Amino acid sequence: MRSKIIAGNWKMYKDIDDSVELIKGITTASSGFPPGVKVILCPPFTSLAVAQRLLEGTQIGLGAQNMHHEDEGACTGEISAKMLKSVGCRYVIVGHSERRQYFAESNDFINKKARKALASGLIPIICVGETLEEREKNLTEKVVTVQIKGVLKELTAGDVEKSIIAYEPVWAIGTGKTATPQQAEEVHQVIRKLIGQMHSWATAEKVVIQYGGSVKPENAQVLLTQPNIDGALVGGACLKADSFGQIIKAAAGL
Ligand code: PEP
Repeated sequence: MRSKIIAGNWKMYKDIDDSVELIKGITTASSGFPPGVKVILCPPFTSLAVAQRLLEGTQIGLGAQNMHHEDEGACTGEISAKMLKSVGCRYVIVGHSERRQYFAESNDFINKKARKALASGLIPIICVGETLEEREKNLTEKVVTVQIKGVLKELTAGDVEKSIIAYEPVWAIGTGKTATPQQAEEVHQVIRKLIGQMHSWATAEKVVIQYGGSVKPENAQVLLTQPNIDGALVGGACLKADSFGQIIKAAAGL
């Protein structure tokens, strides 16, 4: 039985003061919820240290939004897995569509990050998803298959089981357009089946596959009750404690 995982991707929002306010709000909003739901916050790099301090002693996990695959080096502006671990991160998002789109990240590059994250003891939240054009041309399955094969290349079954996959159709991210539960479930099934073929069905059954793309309190429950949707990667709606709290509540079946 896979547990539900709700992760908040804060993107480039919230300075230190705003972060403190939001984290306090989220810890209050999610206190008393059953332990069946795992909550992860992914604030910007600048807020990781304060988040670590505020989340100490809570069940909420800390993640970053990106990392570099090298240990160290002349890589201005980049952050290593070791640095993320030293500030309390257990998770890291890799291959978000905004990184693919605006920073030209390839499946190969994302695969390097995922492998380094796992080798360093971080759990990667690995994002895949098709564009609107690809969906309209009926290429969704093909595109997602190429992405999954690329980003999971050379990962062992154990590594894949530890990882979190986030299916995020690009056309649904930040647009207010959500995939229907049927559209999302269909792609989640494709991903799980593919992992089964790459490894084994036992591995595929263990992998948490989140949905991301305009998840909000109004649509969370119907998405999260699909058999192959094991949680959500939330952007816009995670920036307010109240709406994020309602999504956590929906995941807990409350
Ligand atoms: C995201 O950033 O991963 C995301 C899904 O954003 P939103 O919920 O705003 O669509």
